[in-house]
Amino acid sequence: MMGLDALFGPSVERGPRARRLYLTFDDGPNARATPAILEILAAERVPAAFFMVGRHVRLFPSLARQVRAAGHDIGNHTQHHIKLHLRGPRRIRAELEEAHAAIDAVTGRPPCAFRAPHGLRSPFLRPLARELGYTVFGWTFGVFDTARPGAEEIRRRVRVRLRRGAIVLLHDGDGYDPEGDRMQTAEALPGIIRDAREKGYEFGVLGELVR
Ligand SMILES: [Zn+2]
Repeated sequence: MMGLDALFGPSVERGPRARRLYLTFDDGPNARATPAILEILAAERVPAAFFMVGRHVRLFPSLARQVRAAGHDIGNHTQHHIKLHLRGPRRIRAELEEAHAAIDAVTGRPPCAFRAPHGLRSPFLRPLARELGYTVFGWTFGVFDTARPGAEEIRRRVRVRLRRGAIVLLHDGDGYDPEGDRMQTAEALPGIIRDAREKGYEFGVLGELVR
């Protein structure tokens, strides 16, 4: 059977089955949630990956630089958070290249990871990702933190889904609104880290899964 990988290209959705988790935050930078999350990650000495929207990188360059300075991975999440499956090859190329240039210019390092908005990949993505040298990432589970169900509920949803090698999808921004409120996710984070450690997990660097 022809799998999705044959059509859309490979996507990393889980790490090796060690007691290790990979935290990822999408759609930032965000003026309130990103600094709050960075502070918690620093206090807990936890690495994470941030898949940034190029437009938000341009709006909040100092936040993108703070993420880089803290040593976290930064990935490309398109310039305008578009749904790739609805677009043609020219627009997809522009979206990837603009965000690539924004991240490179602002943080001083070109990204080597890409994640499609909503996980919606396109057949046009594969050759482009190869050309730009990207590893394409999905996720093992998300918890719909964007619906803002409350910090305790976000924490609970992560706790019940934890499994070896999981790439956890969370959000420090709103793909369509640079002012979007993601503070519930920030508030949930200390509990998420505590729960994971109590279950014996450590936190890995997503970059170690780049191929
Ligand atoms: Zn997104």
